[in-house]
Amino acid sequence: MTTLSPRIRCTRRLEFDAAHRVMEHESKCKHLHGHRYVIEATFEATALDALDRVIDFGVIKERLGHWVDTHWDHATILNVKDAALGEAIAAQTFQKIYYLNGNPTAEKMAEYLFSEICPSLFAGSDVRCVRLRLYETPNCYADVEAP
Ligand SMILES: [Zn+2]
Repeated sequence: MTTLSPRIRCTRRLEFDAAHRVMEHESKCKHLHGHRYVIEATFEATALDALDRVIDFGVIKERLGHWVDTHWDHATILNVKDAALGEAIAAQTFQKIYYLNGNPTAEKMAEYLFSEICPSLFAGSDVRCVRLRLYETPNCYADVEAP
């Protein structure tokens, strides 16, 4: 992929609420708890569009925001090995449960969005997500970037 020179990127911030726990965590994160997560998804294109944008910010919200609202907002996000807890929560609350193939850390959640979700949401265009930052708290975040 060729890139604009100078490199121009745009970033959309999205927020959602979810519960998680980190299995075998050394401290309190092994307990089920919640966060107000913040995503910063950064995009590049080979050229600006006819209106001089990398991508319309609204399109990022429509695609990535919609996916997050549907699957992760007000859900419990768990390690697939934590299925017994997920089934108990779902049976009691009818809450959405979303399983990851590993612990739902900020790193793993960011990697999942970046590698598994964003490519298909923006396929067929010359726009791609090149960095995804996921804040678990205002002070703690994980970054995943294109090499
Ligand atoms: Zn946490």
